[in-house]
Amino acid sequence: MARKHPHTSASGDRDLRVNPVFSREPLTIPRYALPAGELDPGTAYQIVHDELMLDGNARLNLATFVSTWAEPEALRLMSECAEKNMIDKDEYPRTAELEMRCVHMLARLWHAPDPRRAVGCSTTGSSEAAMLGGLALKRRWRERRRAAGRPADRPNLVMGVNVQICWEKFANYFEVEPRYVPMEGDRYHLGAREAVELCDENTIGVVAVLGSTFDGSYEPVAEIAAALDDLERRTGLNVPIHVDGASGAMVAPFLDAGLEWDFRLDRVASINTSGHKYGLVMPGVGWALWRDEDALPDDLVFHVNYLGGDMPTFALNFSRPGAQVVAQYYNFLRLGIEGYRRVQQTCRDVATRLAAGIGRLGPFETLTDGGDIPVFAFRVREDVGTFTVYDVSAALRESGWLVPAYTFPENRTDLAVLRVVVRHGFGHDLADLFMDDLRRVLPRLESQPGPQRSAAEAAGFAHGAEPKPAHRAPS
Ligand SMILES: *Cc1c(COP(=O)(O)O)cnc(C)c1O
Repeated sequence: MARKHPHTSASGDRDLRVNPVFSREPLTIPRYALPAGELDPGTAYQIVHDELMLDGNARLNLATFVSTWAEPEALRLMSECAEKNMIDKDEYPRTAELEMRCVHMLARLWHAPDPRRAVGCSTTGSSEAAMLGGLALKRRWRERRRAAGRPADRPNLVMGVNVQICWEKFANYFEVEPRYVPMEGDRYHLGAREAVELCDENTIGVVAVLGSTFDGSYEPVAEIAAALDDLERRTGLNVPIHVDGASGAMVAPFLDAGLEWDFRLDRVASINTSGHKYGLVMPGVGWALWRDEDALPDDLVFHVNYLGGDMPTFALNFSRPGAQVVAQYYNFLRLGIEGYRRVQQTCRDVATRLAAGIGRLGPFETLTDGGDIPVFAFRVREDVGTFTVYDVSAALRESGWLVPAYTFPENRTDLAVLRVVVRHGFGHDLADLFMDDLRRVLPRLESQPGPQRSAAEAAGFAHGAEPKPAHRAPS
C-alpha cells in the first residue's frame, strides 16, 4: 500500500530521468505510470539498483527483529528455489516434505505430547500464523458454545496491551473483541491474575507472548496456565492458551530448557514463531503448530491434491515462495540444537553486555537486561532534563544506527523508551562501535538547553510496538 499519493510526494509528477549509464542515450520514463515501452535490462537494473542505494543499512537496524544476515549457502539455496511455489505440493513434493520435516522438528522442540499427532504448517510469518491460531481458537469456542446451546456471537480474546499489532489485526479482521490487560507499575506485560480477571464464557483464549515486542521480556506462561487451571476448577470455564513465540519460541528451547512455556503445559493449544526472526531465515517464513488434531478444527482445513493423494492445508495465502521453507530446513540441518544454542547464546551475551554498558553510562536506566530474548528497552532517567529518548534516537541516526523510541501503552504512557534488538550478525564488535557512538553523542545532548525532539517528530518504526487502548470494563 503506497502511503503518499504520487502527486503529493516530494518529487511531484516529474518523470524519472533515466541516465544512469552515461554513455547511453538520455531518456526519461514516467515515475508513477507504467512506461509504454521497454528498457534494456541493464539500464532497468541500474535504475532500480541506484534508487535502492538510499535504503538503510540493514545490519545497523537495531529496530527490526527480522534476520538481516544469512549464510551464503542458505542464500544460494534460496536463489536455487526462487521459482518454487509452496502450494504446489504436487510439482515440488520434496519442498513439501522439507516443510513437514520442519513441522515435526518444531513439534519435538516444543514438547508436543505425541509429536506425530501435532499438526502445523509454514506461513508467511508470525502474523499469518497468529491469524490461523486465533481462528482455530474462535472456531473451537463456537463449537463448544453451540454444543451447549449457548449464544456464540460475542467472542473475546484476552491478552496484554503489549501484544504485537498482528493481534489487534486478528481481532479487527475476524471480529473478536480484544481485551487488553493494561501495564501497571513495573509490570510491562501480561500478568496471570489480570488475565483471568478478564476471562468469561465468551473468551476464546488467552494470548501469552514469549518475548514481548515492547521490552523483550517473556510473559509468565506457566503462571497464566496455572491461573486458568484454577479458573476452570472454580467455574468450569476452559480457556486455552495460544503462545505467540514469534521470537522466544526459537530462543527459549535452546537457552532456557527448564522454562515451561510450551506444549508441556496442557493448556497451551497452539504456538507460532517467526522462522525469519530467531529461526534465522531471511524474511518470509513463520510457523504455526497445534498440540494435536483436536486443537485444530477440521472444518478450517482445506484439502489439496498431493501426488494423487490428499494434502491438508490451512493458510490465508494460496501461492507463496518455497525458498524460505527450504532455507529453514537448511538452518535446522546445518545448526542443530547445539548450533542454535551457540548463536542464541552469543546474541544473549551481546545483548546483556550492551544493556549493562548502557546502564553504566549514567543518564540511562534499563527496563530489561536482554536476558530473555536478546532485546532490551532503556529509558532516559527522570532527572535528565536536557534530552529525551527521541533526541537519542535522532543522534544515533547520524551514525547510521536505527534505534526506535516510543512510548509505552496504558497505563504507562508516561514512559518513553529506546529498544535494541540484537540479532545474529550483530556481534560484540558492532556492539562496541554502537557504544562508542552513543558515548560520543552524550556530551552534546547533555549540553542542549532542553529536549529538541518529542514523540510527534520521532521517526523510526517500532515494529509492532505501537500503543493501543487497554481494556476498559463496560460502563
Ligand atoms: C514480530 C512479531 C509478530 C509478527 O511477526 P511477523 O513474522 O513479522 O509477521 C508477532 N508477535 C510478536 C511477539 C512479534 O515479535
